[in-house]
Amino acid sequence: MPTPSSTPRVLVVGAGVAGLAAAQALHNSGLTVSVVDKGRAPGGRISSRTGDHGPFDHGAQYFTARDPRFQARVKAWCAAGIAAPWNARIGVARNGDLTPKDEQPTRYVGIPSMRAIALHQARLLDVRCQVKVGALERINGQWRTTLASGEALEPADAVLITAPSEQAHVLLAPAPALAAAAKRVRHAPCWAVMVNFEGRLDIAYDGLFVHDSPLSWVARDSAKPGRPTGERWVLHGSAEWSEAHIEVDPDAVAGQLLAAFFASTGHARVDPQRLVAHRWRYAIAEPPIDRGCLFDEELRLGGAGDWLHGARVEGAYLSGLAAATRVREALT
Ligand SMILES: Cc1cc2nc3c(=O)[nH]c(=O)nc-3n(C[C@H](O)[C@H](O)[C@H](O)COP(=O)(O)OP(=O)(O)OC[C@H]3O[C@@H](n4cnc5c(N)ncnc54)[C@H](O)[C@@H]3O)c2cc1C
Repeated sequence: MPTPSSTPRVLVVGAGVAGLAAAQALHNSGLTVSVVDKGRAPGGRISSRTGDHGPFDHGAQYFTARDPRFQARVKAWCAAGIAAPWNARIGVARNGDLTPKDEQPTRYVGIPSMRAIALHQARLLDVRCQVKVGALERINGQWRTTLASGEALEPADAVLITAPSEQAHVLLAPAPALAAAAKRVRHAPCWAVMVNFEGRLDIAYDGLFVHDSPLSWVARDSAKPGRPTGERWVLHGSAEWSEAHIEVDPDAVAGQLLAAFFASTGHARVDPQRLVAHRWRYAIAEPPIDRGCLFDEELRLGGAGDWLHGARVEGAYLSGLAAATRVREALT
C-alpha cells in the first residue's frame, strides 16, 4: 500500500529489543516505520541458536520485569504464549561448592526460545534483516541512509540508532554530542559455550552464578519451559576472562570453559556430544549511562539501547519506548 506523503517516515537501525520496542510504539502511533538489522533475523542479543541438537539461548538468559510498563508488556507476552516464568533452581557455584541463591526475582524466558520475543515484536512491522547501515546524510531536511552494500534507502524524517554504543557512535556522527556520549560507553565481551550431553548431569541447579572461575554463569538451557527434551547447557565466560581471550580460537575457548564448568560445579568430567563457542564482542554495557535515550530534536536523530538504560533486556525495552516518545513529539 503506498504511504501518504504526509505520514512521517522513521528508520530504526537495529532489530533488538530496543529497536523493536521503539518501532512498535511508533507504528502504533500511525507513523511509517522501517527497521533494518545486519543480523540474519531479529533479536540482537536475545538471539537463539537452533540446530540438530535443539535450541540454545546463547545471549540473554532470562529477563526480569520491575517497571510497570515492562511488567504489562511481559504479561501480554505470557498471555500470547511467547514468554513464561522460569521457575528455576538458581544457585551459586564456587570451586565445586554449590549453594542456593538468596534473592530470587521472577525470571522470564521466551517460548520456545528467547528469540521468540523478538519475532513476536517484529511480526507486524516492516523489518529487513541482513542489511548493514553504512552512513547517514542529511539532505533537504531528511535522512538519506546508505547501506554497506551501497544501496540507498528511502529518505526518512527521523532515524533511531539502537546498535551497541561501539557501533552506534559511528552512525551518530552527524550529531557530535550524541556520538560523544556513545563513545563514553563500552560493552564487556562474553564468550558463550553451547554444550549437549547424552544424559542428565547430576547437578541440583538449573542456573548457577559462578565465582572464582573463568565462568560467570552456567545454565541448563533444556530446563527452561517449552524446550525440547535433552541435556543442553550454556556456559558464559566472565567479562575479565572473555576480554583476555577475545581473539582465541573458538574451539580452544570451548574446551577451556568446559573444563571450568566441571571444576566449578564439582561434577565429574563427561564427554559432550557437541560443543560450540560463540563470541559476543559487545555483551553487557558497563556501566550504562542512565539517560533513557539520546535525541537531537533539530536533526531528528537519536539513539536507544540497553547502554542508555540499565544494561538489560528490560532497560533496552524502556529505552526504546523513551526514544519513540521523543521521535513522536518531534514529528507530530
Ligand atoms: C551473553 C549475554 C548474556 C546476557 N544475559 C542477560 C540476561 O540474562 N538478562 C538480561 O536482561 N539481559 C542480558 N543480556 C543483555 C541483553 O541481551 C541486552 O541488554 C539487550 O538484548 C540489548 O538489546 P538492544 O536492542 O539494546 O541491543 P541489541 O540486542 O544488541 O540490538 C542491536 C541490533 O543492532 C544491529 N546493528 C548494529 N549495527 C548495525 C548496522 N550498522 N546496521 C544494521 N544493524 C545494526 C545488531 O545486529 C543488533 O541486532 C545479555 C547479553 C549477552 C550478550
